[in-house]
Amino acid sequence: MSKFLALLFRNRLAALGGVVIAVIFVLALITPLLPLQSPDDTDTAHRFLLPFSGGHLLGTDQLGRDLLSRLLWGTRLSLAVGIAAALAAGFVGSAVGIVAGYFGGRTDNVIMRGVDMLMAFPYILLALAIVAALGPGLMNALIAVAAVNVPFFARNIRGITVGLAGREFVDAARLSGKGHIRILLTELLPNVLPVIVVAMSTTVGWMILETAGLSFLGLGAQPPQADLGGMLGEARSAMISSPHTSVVPGVMIFLIVMSINLLGDGVRDALDPRLRSGALSRPKPATDVRRAGPVPEATGALLEVQALETQFHVGRRIYRAVNGVSLAVRPGECLGVIGESGSGKSVTALSVMGLVASPPGVITGGAVRYKGDDLVGAPYGKLRSLRGDRVAYIFQDPLSTLHPLYRIGDQLAEAITAHHGVGGREARQRALKLLRDVRIPNPESRIDNYPHEMSGGMRQRVGIAMALANDPDVIIADEPTTALDVTVQAQILSLLDDLRRDRGLAIVFITHDFGVVGQLCDRVAVMYAGQIVEEGPTQAILDAPAHPYTARLIACVPELGGGRRALAAIPGLPPSVDDLPPGCAFAPRCARAQEGCTAAPIDMREGAVAGTPGRAVRCINPEEAIA
Ligand code: ADP
Ligand code: MG
Repeated sequence: MSKFLALLFRNRLAALGGVVIAVIFVLALITPLLPLQSPDDTDTAHRFLLPFSGGHLLGTDQLGRDLLSRLLWGTRLSLAVGIAAALAAGFVGSAVGIVAGYFGGRTDNVIMRGVDMLMAFPYILLALAIVAALGPGLMNALIAVAAVNVPFFARNIRGITVGLAGREFVDAARLSGKGHIRILLTELLPNVLPVIVVAMSTTVGWMILETAGLSFLGLGAQPPQADLGGMLGEARSAMISSPHTSVVPGVMIFLIVMSINLLGDGVRDALDPRLRSGALSRPKPATDVRRAGPVPEATGALLEVQALETQFHVGRRIYRAVNGVSLAVRPGECLGVIGESGSGKSVTALSVMGLVASPPGVITGGAVRYKGDDLVGAPYGKLRSLRGDRVAYIFQDPLSTLHPLYRIGDQLAEAITAHHGVGGREARQRALKLLRDVRIPNPESRIDNYPHEMSGGMRQRVGIAMALANDPDVIIADEPTTALDVTVQAQILSLLDDLRRDRGLAIVFITHDFGVVGQLCDRVAVMYAGQIVEEGPTQAILDAPAHPYTARLIACVPELGGGRRALAAIPGLPPSVDDLPPGCAFAPRCARAQEGCTAAPIDMREGAVAGTPGRAVRCINPEEAIA
């Protein structure tokens, strides 16, 4: 709640609107307690008195009634009627919309065609017709204004409910045996409630205006009782000779409607969860860079990540997701990056092409070099020309990375034409060849499939084909097989292995599974809490892990036919990256931890372990001695 208010008040105009409407509300509430004349006391001897004369602060009207008193009582009435109308319209409209959207089919059709009929009439005409049928009076004006606003709520809420009603959590509720009423009330209503609140806050002002309009025409409040619209209507005849009688209620209507609308817009922005974390802005096309330290020299690998630091700055908190990660790959080489969920693998991978969302992501140190060129802070045009062309990504869930409404052939062709000026026919031929390369059976007919018509393994093959579309030099695969079953996973791995041998691809393969690394990768880097803790040739590390964390990770992998062995889960949880300890982040979970482990940062030590050179480990008490 306090977060909501803080967000709301960051928007100056909304804050201003909130303060004005709050003052008006308080005045309306305490009107009966104020020492005012009765609003209906006439005094024809003192008609049309100007403001500040004869003891009347705002003057008098055509019957000598005190304008201030009439204004406050009228405001009270107008606010009450407008808000009551908004509540009634919101309640009825939302109920109709949620029922239509949830049941769908014939129910939806009947209800929504009725709503459409209401919408077919011009707005104010319909209100006039309703009041004409019911007879003039404030209550009937309220009913008319509420009725003409019902379709607005019904349409809005139905649209949102239709999207929600097919979602898995509603299916789950149905499977658990909940009845329709309970699903509507406990599953759908909480999800649409923010929308209802927002729709209401943005329409209250409008409804106050409509009620005032009906009263102005003499169809709402009846004399001597007056709301703001009624006051305006009575003052109409004296508009030229005594303008203050119409200016007073006019200004009040303006203040009310403006302040409610400003506040309503602010409420809408503050309630939207997508705007909440993203600081009311969209991510930029490339990650922000604020580098303080020196930029490391190039060493000549195809793609190298050098002492990379990527952080998330959220409010006053700093999440240090990547803390000085260095990696390098050569053509034809496969480098595995392994670690528990949350260790910073994805953020490292996304930092390479500046794909970490900013805000809140910031690259604060290090370099990323492709063929020697530093990409950190490179112009957006350069990053764009490399993304998907020279350096391509494969993500974990192809269903969310493929566009659901386009055929896969068109999406593949688009991946090609985005970088190369080839014609539609040629792009399609290439797409066909790509599908054949990733061993999709019967590609001639599959090319016209939509993503939902394919199985998970097929979709991931399409994802790989898309990454291969422009014959890249580097592929960064972020857990591409995690969502697949083991047989499909084995096929995909052997496919990637063939591709890198045939095409000389460099692959950075991110996973949390040592079994996968053993099948595919030449070298492996083990990540923990945003740092690499061990690196070396895969087989050597599998045979003789040096870092206790690596040893525990390997102990977690079951072996088929390896006899009975307890799978040792690692106790405890990874540290949260907004509060990292000064020394080794793994120490609290480590059986070999010593006194010096937590005191100061521990350096990566390079050398040979168990006779194999080219290894490095970040540990002062490793499992295997480093030479
Ligand atoms: P993984 O190794 O599972 O791929 P990630 O690279 O996705 O892990 O995340 C690394 C760390 O960065 C996690 O601890 C996560 O909490 C943090 N993180 C990721 N995105 C954000 C964000 N937008 N705001 C704050 N922290 C984030
Ligand atoms: Mg990840």
